[in-house]
Amino acid sequence: MPNAKKTPHYIKEVEAAPDFSAIEKELLEHWYRDGIVTRYLHKNDSSSDKFIFQDGPITANNPMGVHHAWGRTYKDLWQRYKNMRGFKQRFQNGFDCQGLWVEVEVEKELGFRTKKDIEAYGVDKFVQLCKDRVKKYSLMQTQQSKRLGYFMDWDNSYFTMSDENNYMIWNFLKVCWQKGWIYQGHDSVPWCPRCETAISQHEMLTEDYKEITHKSIYYKLPITGRDREYLLVWTTTPWTLPANIAVAVDSSQEYALVEDEAGSRYWILNALVTTVFKDTLYKILKSSLGSDLVGLRYTTAFDNIPAVKEVADKHPEKFHVVIATDSQIMPITAVEGTGLVHTAVSAGAEDFQLGKKLGLPLIPVIADNADYLAGMGFLSGKNAKKHPEIIIDYLNVEGQWVFRVENYTHRYPSCWRCKTELVWKIADVWYISMDKTDPDDKQGRTLRQKMIDVAKKIHWYPEFGMDRELDWLNNMHDWLISKKNRYWGLALPIWVCDDCSDFIVIGGKEELKNKASDGWDKFIGHTPHKPFIDEVKIKCEKCGGNMTRIGDVGNPWLDAGIVPFSTLVDPDTGEVSYSTDKKYWRDWYPANFITESFPGQFKNWFYSLIAMSTVFEDATPYENVLGFASVLGEDGRAMHKSWGNSIEFNEGADKIGVDVMRWTFVRHNPERNLLFGYKTTSDTKRLFHMLLWNSYRFFANYAALEKWDSTDKNYHHPSKLDFWITYRLNQVVIDVGASLDKYDAFSATNAIESFVSDLSTWYIRRSRDRIGPVASDCTDKDNCYLTLNNVFSTLSRILMPFIPFLSDLIFTNITGEETVHLADWPETTTDVNTELQDRMSQVRSICELGNSARKTQGIAIKQPLSSIKVVGDFKNLVDDNELLQLIKDELNVEQVIILEGETPSVEYDTEITDNLQKKGRARELIRAIQEARKEANCRLDEHIRLEMPDWPEEFVDDIKKKTLVDNIATGDSLKIIRSK
Ligand SMILES: [Zn+2]
Ligand SMILES: [Zn+2]
Repeated sequence: MPNAKKTPHYIKEVEAAPDFSAIEKELLEHWYRDGIVTRYLHKNDSSSDKFIFQDGPITANNPMGVHHAWGRTYKDLWQRYKNMRGFKQRFQNGFDCQGLWVEVEVEKELGFRTKKDIEAYGVDKFVQLCKDRVKKYSLMQTQQSKRLGYFMDWDNSYFTMSDENNYMIWNFLKVCWQKGWIYQGHDSVPWCPRCETAISQHEMLTEDYKEITHKSIYYKLPITGRDREYLLVWTTTPWTLPANIAVAVDSSQEYALVEDEAGSRYWILNALVTTVFKDTLYKILKSSLGSDLVGLRYTTAFDNIPAVKEVADKHPEKFHVVIATDSQIMPITAVEGTGLVHTAVSAGAEDFQLGKKLGLPLIPVIADNADYLAGMGFLSGKNAKKHPEIIIDYLNVEGQWVFRVENYTHRYPSCWRCKTELVWKIADVWYISMDKTDPDDKQGRTLRQKMIDVAKKIHWYPEFGMDRELDWLNNMHDWLISKKNRYWGLALPIWVCDDCSDFIVIGGKEELKNKASDGWDKFIGHTPHKPFIDEVKIKCEKCGGNMTRIGDVGNPWLDAGIVPFSTLVDPDTGEVSYSTDKKYWRDWYPANFITESFPGQFKNWFYSLIAMSTVFEDATPYENVLGFASVLGEDGRAMHKSWGNSIEFNEGADKIGVDVMRWTFVRHNPERNLLFGYKTTSDTKRLFHMLLWNSYRFFANYAALEKWDSTDKNYHHPSKLDFWITYRLNQVVIDVGASLDKYDAFSATNAIESFVSDLSTWYIRRSRDRIGPVASDCTDKDNCYLTLNNVFSTLSRILMPFIPFLSDLIFTNITGEETVHLADWPETTTDVNTELQDRMSQVRSICELGNSARKTQGIAIKQPLSSIKVVGDFKNLVDDNELLQLIKDELNVEQVIILEGETPSVEYDTEITDNLQKKGRARELIRAIQEARKEANCRLDEHIRLEMPDWPEEFVDDIKKKTLVDNIATGDSLKIIRSK
């Protein structure tokens, strides 16, 4: 057991329930003012062991919410732990700056509705406001992160809007281009009509699919040349009907011709007849294979619209015709609908693919904001999404087109940023190909295959992370990297020739300067953003024409994925190391560890890091990744201001205290969503922090009272209880270290909580009389003090990474050292007496049985009993008088009789003799006197005199000793007499 230290240090008394939030703020000020944070950051500068943490940038667009604090607590936790372990680190925080999320907020502030407002306001001014917003919120988030107790090198944070970051992405895109992977697609893509931009597959997260009820329609299409015979199609997006080109059927399935009461006849998939016709009167006239329907022609309600007519005239043979589907692209099932599929080549992803395969024409019907285009007749200028009723109203007025209209509830995607329902629209967008082979790869793998190989080398926590990432990588389409019609973002370095349409990708600022044929003077002095970057023109090498940058900005995950390459700035040269000799970069790549909330990140940051690292280095960008779920309100719903269940960070920090907040996060299983609120956190505080605080206060206040100091104190025959808790302490240090080494804070905190519980409910409970003025055995007192001293100085150190404030309070008071933040991880020993651990567990289980037996028999614990018979496999306790004494004390019995037996049970001798009755009475009085002392505010070491009506004379010495009473006189009631 550890022995004394040299310099005297007196522990100070502590309050019962201090204002922890106020203390946290004072401590923070002290840590920054007195250079503790700086010394912490540089503690291991000369160490040769490194821990490389790569921060995933936080979007600097709003104040932090409490949900941000979960990840930031993890980030701080592991960096703190590794700092205690002696690893050198960079402590670099990051801010994500560019993209639609910032634009939307600035638009809101300015009251803008559409991109026309931005153009009128001036793109340069708008972009500047976006930059300003990022600066403002990065400062605020820095303050909030500090408040959380997060120690980072805050003056050295990276910003994804930096030139370094943007030009490094250019470099990445150029490498992709050189490999032949960058291409432009003319595609039907998911599109937000509010933001007027394509939404990539990466951005369509499950949580953005909402249950929405749309009007679905069964649409009757008259077959050309047949009287009263129709194709019956069904759609949930009636606004796409004017874009109809064809009706698809499955050639190999059976279709029925059904006649209704009125004598109209409809073609419909056999298997769906009863679903569609329900309990109306109908008869099936005949059935045919789908292949028999292929080639039938039909007319629609929109054939008079000029744009529709134009396509009909140009492509008569491929217009309004029944086609056979390709079930790989557009499978036809008997689950819903009619089995005849309305195919609008311009307004659906599958429709587009099928159209492409069959060489069908298309009718573009909507503009970027979902207004019907010019040429769409009566529809032109009306908004397809805002006014879906115009289609149905029109069809109803026209009479013969509608078979039935039905409400249809389905999960429908909305824009992740502004929550507007998406549409599918034809657009020219840019992709990185996932499936073209890498010309530089010896095995001829594609980017997809290479990324899969890289992802498999990473340790994913939780384990299912790897499956999710691989699932995404196996199934994702090509990576859509461009955003149309947006302003604040990476300027994609793609220049297209105005004449021959050839394009090139520029890899950096120098290259652009060298190739610029015009406009460089207008750009120089600006960051590589719109509008100034668009001034630069390049001469086409193929035809000598003029090349102009595509107006698009980049997918924001490019910005965050590049950071392992763009943020490692060599401190000696000030240069981005990856662009120079890569020496410094090699020292700090790859990251040992990253952690982020997993919803979304498998498609986003985890993905883009892998993509960029695979392209540049064919190597894994991080070795370990800890993903964690989402923070929800206590009501189980997502946090929303309007629902009253969201908590702002500052408010939460002040009301809850950040140590409590941090513990609530780290004790939670990261695989599950965390329901966070004031109730959860107050439970955490009561069950953990206050238990810890009260145990600590028990020790600190007696030590302060008795001016106990560990100097030159040594153990003299410590008790088994002392040995036991010391072993437990050693074990918890080992267990917590092992869990943290595996990025498992959940197990680590469980181990600490169970230790604190053992400390409080067993060690201290059984040691209450060993310290303080009433305790008379000085060597035992020292043993207990030394044990508690060791427990709290060690425990406070292992708590430091989790709860930096409380641990510092405890550590500094117990040890007299300046701060816990510069401490090392406690040493451990392999000397563990498992036999004592086992015996103590037996003792505790006997006590549990004994206590519950008293409860069921209704005999108060303060009534001493003569004996308890214990049956069970406890034979090694028989001769252990010290442990038997613990049982006697805990269960208030004079004798413990252990008997062999299989099922553990206990039985008290319940006869209460005269002597036992008096002993019980004495115990009752002791408790009453202690209460009275407290009420009278007696000092813990104050001797008093006493009056009371009666007392058992046999136990008077015991009463006096345990309550510091010098003299007892007879009086009417219990009364304390204090000397002046
Ligand atoms: Zn939007
Ligand atoms: Zn050209």
